[in-house]
Amino acid sequence: MSAQAVTIIGLGPMGRTMANVYLDRGYQVTVWNRTASRADELVARGAVLAASAEAAVAANELVILSLTDYDAVYAVLEQAEAALAGRVVVNLSSDTPERARQAAGWLAERGAQHLTGGVQVPPSGLGNPESETFYSGPKDVFEAHREALEVITSADYRGEDPGLAALFYQLQMDMFWTSMLSWLHALAVADAHGISAEELLPYASRTMASLPGFLGFYTPRIDAGEHAGDVDRLAMGVASVDHIVHTTRDAGVDATFPGAVLDVFQRGLTDGYGADSFTSLTKVFRKNAR
Ligand code: NDP
Repeated sequence: MSAQAVTIIGLGPMGRTMANVYLDRGYQVTVWNRTASRADELVARGAVLAASAEAAVAANELVILSLTDYDAVYAVLEQAEAALAGRVVVNLSSDTPERARQAAGWLAERGAQHLTGGVQVPPSGLGNPESETFYSGPKDVFEAHREALEVITSADYRGEDPGLAALFYQLQMDMFWTSMLSWLHALAVADAHGISAEELLPYASRTMASLPGFLGFYTPRIDAGEHAGDVDRLAMGVASVDHIVHTTRDAGVDATFPGAVLDVFQRGLTDGYGADSFTSLTKVFRKNAR
């Protein structure tokens, strides 16, 4: 078994690009995918297509999974149980922290180690050391394979708890999807007024680029439990979001998204935070889990 050898299971856009990046770096790459034809170009470049998931796992100590979710992970690994003992399974498939912990336990029962990973870039960012992937799981196992894993992206090791990489990944995705949806929503309202995405682009970019300044300002206050209304007041925020809801409805656009935001703001008012900063909504989120 070569030290410069890796198995990649799952050849969606991410897995295929990872395999290409390893091939570029001279690794021996064994691949397997449910739909075998997705391996064709990789095989033409020198990758070995394993005859089965079990043969792919058996081929190398380091086994990288890039599957849609953990249902797919189990669907594949249950075919490969006999080969799992002694393997390091680096699971770059996204799912919840709890499912990552369960998978680590499931693999431990079969004699394998599990590293959870959360890749923070699309395929175009793979192979770039400026890109990052969260990892968690046994530190010694991570350190033993850090060099090989950093072929994909730089590694940000978050800790021993297998759920941590999934958690940090989901926190990023929480912000990403809601931010991107806010942009799509604004585009729909703009479109209703004949304003194109192109015309809005500089303004949308400026708003998004302003966010780190707000995060930097409010973060120490939030960590200190301070939500003073000296810079903004939640009551002002309620009025502001209410204007967005009405602007949306007047444009004939679905107001579900700003309506949900307004609902959260109004719960903050009900809880008595009207004179405090909108950051007091963190307390509303914690209290009103539903
Ligand atoms: P895809 O969902 O496009 O492909 C994943 C792979 O999962 C395919 O090879 C597919 O096989 C396989 N698969 C799905 N279900 C099963 C199953 N039941 N049994 C066997 N194999 C199955 O994902 P991506 O390549 O886009 O992403 C992989 C992971 O990386 C995902 O968890 C994603 O959330 C995450 N990610 C993706 C990013 C992106 O930009 N694409 C960015 C960061 C993370 P088949 O070819 O046979 O369908």
